[in-house]
This record gives sequence, structure tokens and C-alpha cells, in this order.
Amino acid sequence: MKICTQCTTDFQIAPEDRALYDQLGVTDPTLCPQCRNQCRLAWRNDRTFYRAKSAKSGSPIISMYPPDTQFKIYTPSEWYSDDWDPMDYGRDFDFNRPFFEQFAELQREVPRLSMDIVNCENSDYCNYCGDDKNCYFDIAGEGNEDCFYNLFIKYCKDSVDCTFV
Ligand SMILES: [Zn+2]
Repeated sequence: MKICTQCTTDFQIAPEDRALYDQLGVTDPTLCPQCRNQCRLAWRNDRTFYRAKSAKSGSPIISMYPPDTQFKIYTPSEWYSDDWDPMDYGRDFDFNRPFFEQFAELQREVPRLSMDIVNCENSDYCNYCGDDKNCYFDIAGEGNEDCFYNLFIKYCKDSVDCTFV
């Protein structure tokens, strides 16, 4: 029985999880499954936007990452351009160093999208969207036009304050 270091709930490590930890050579988790899931979900920032600077051009941008982020942030047009080559970041794995240490280094070096939007027009304050036009604060939308303050809407027009439409 273990005690979660975040919420102090008791939790157990299942035999199949124990086998995996042993196989990977990692230490036991210090957080209960619910707190670990909370951490995983906290990774994704849908709707808190910051003023930041592009690591490519130095221009002021809107970003889902705070200005003091350790990551290199490119605007969507910079990130999707051919001005940089993702293959430049390839490297050999060092079996004498921990995996997660190397993974964290890689994460800090490979540029990230400031806002996860693709093929959007006049929709700079949207995130996780594709093919939106004239949208504002559309989150996880697709193919929307003239829509504002929505979550998970697709192929909508003139819609405001909707979820899963
Ligand atoms: Zn917990």
C-alpha cells in the first residue's frame, strides 16, 4: 500500500504495473492513479492564452505557452513552413542515460506550435482547430465560420457559446 504524495489517498500498485516498472527500471509512482491522470490532463492547455515571442522570428505572438516557457514556440505559419527541418532534431538514444531525461531534453529543443491551429483564417485566438474562418475563442473546432466562444463544434456558422454542436 502506498500513500499519494499529493492527495494522501492510499493506493496499490497492480502486479502488471509492478512488472512494467521493473521491466522499464523506473521507480514506483508517488501519486495515486487519479492524481497521475490529473497531471496528464493538465499537460494540455486549451484556453489560457499568453503574449509570448516566437523563438523563430522574435515577433510578439499569442501562445498557449506562458512567456517563461522552457519550450521553443513557433507560430502556426512558421511551424508548418519549410523554413526548418524537424529531422535536424533527430538523435541517437543513449542507453547509459535515463529515457525521460533524454525525452525532456528533446521536448525542450523541438519547436512547438504556439497555437494548435491549421489552415485557419482570421482565427488567431482559437486552439486545437482546423479550417476555421473568422472565429474567436473556438476550442477544438473544425470548419467553423463566424463563431465565438465554442467548444468542440464542427461545420457551424454564426454560432456562439455552444458545446458539441
Ligand atoms: Zn492522489
